[in-house]
Order: sequence, then C-alpha cells, then structure tokens
Amino acid sequence: MSSIPNVIQELTDLLSRLPGIGKKSAQRICFYLMDRPRDEIVRYAKGLIDIKDKISHCPVCHFITEETPCSICRDPKRDASQLCIVEDSMDVISIDKTAVFHGKYHVLGGLISPLDGVGPEDLSIDLLIKRLDQVKEVILAINPSVDGDTTAHYLEKIINRYKDIKVTSLARGIPVGGDLEFTDEATLAKALEGRSLINGK
Ligand SMILES: [Zn+2]
Repeated sequence: MSSIPNVIQELTDLLSRLPGIGKKSAQRICFYLMDRPRDEIVRYAKGLIDIKDKISHCPVCHFITEETPCSICRDPKRDASQLCIVEDSMDVISIDKTAVFHGKYHVLGGLISPLDGVGPEDLSIDLLIKRLDQVKEVILAINPSVDGDTTAHYLEKIINRYKDIKVTSLARGIPVGGDLEFTDEATLAKALEGRSLINGK
C-alpha cells in the first residue's frame, strides 16, 4: 500500500493530466498547494469552476468569451473585411498581441485530421461560411503541419467560391512544425506583414 494519503494521490493524478505536467511536477504542485492559505485555495477552485461556467464560445467567431458576441466581434473599430482564420483561441491572443492586425478573427476549434477522425463538420466552418459575404481578404494563420496544410487547402477551396476574396497565408518565418502560440511577437508580426497571396486574387 502506498504511504501517500488518498486525497493527495487523487489530486496528483488529476494534475498530472494537465498539459506539460508530469507525475513529479504534479506531486510538487500538490505539496505546494497544501501549504497555501485556505482562501487562496478557494480562489483556485473558484477560478476553475468559473472558466467552466462563465466562458463559452462566441456564436460568431468561436473565440472564447464571457459575453456574446465576444469583444472582438463587437468592436466597431475592427475591419470586418479582413478575416484571420486560426486553429484555436490562444492563437487569437498571440496574434492580437502583435498589434499588427486590425481585422476580425475566426477560430476553427481544431484542424482537419483524417487520422484522428476530425472532419470539416467538427470545426466551426459552418459559422465561417455565414461570415464570408462581407470579407475581402482571408488570412490563413494556421500552423504549418500535415493537418494544418490539409485544413488550409480545404478552406482555400471553399473560399475560392467567392470571387472577390483574396486568400493569404502567413510568411514562413514561423518554423515548420512550430506553433503560433510559442512564436515570439516580433516573428509573428513579421509573418503577418509578409503574408503571401495564395489564390491569385
Ligand atoms: Zn466573436
């Protein structure tokens, strides 16, 4: 029998499921938390419940939000004719930090991945199609990978049905196999500025 009390074991197991947290780190976090004041622990617990209860996806762009539509969709200063398509909400946060892009975003909620059984119908592509009428340029800001390229090609095909939409993609500068989330702001800003036209419009 393990000498570790059950409650600690259970929390450690749970924490070790978090991305980037191994068994050792999970145990360290658990012991750290045990020494924190109770009111701080309550704030952690409340924060976790709040992200579940108060955050949803914007019905327009699928970005995470507390209000619907989200603050980006509601912002009248943003150029609705430019739409930047990204894989997930963290990419919106990364790109917006560069302050280079002043258009709107569309969050796919994943990538098409035949191997993982993810098809276009599992992503927010139906929402995207509803928005395309007022768009003049679509920027595909999708991580370069097999699934990323499959998704970009699929989207390009759909968007090409609209004669007046220019499709661009980020300049390479983003490392192959890299992740927008972990790309520094300067590189990301450059990649946005140097985006290239991919559908000849
Ligand atoms: Zn939105």
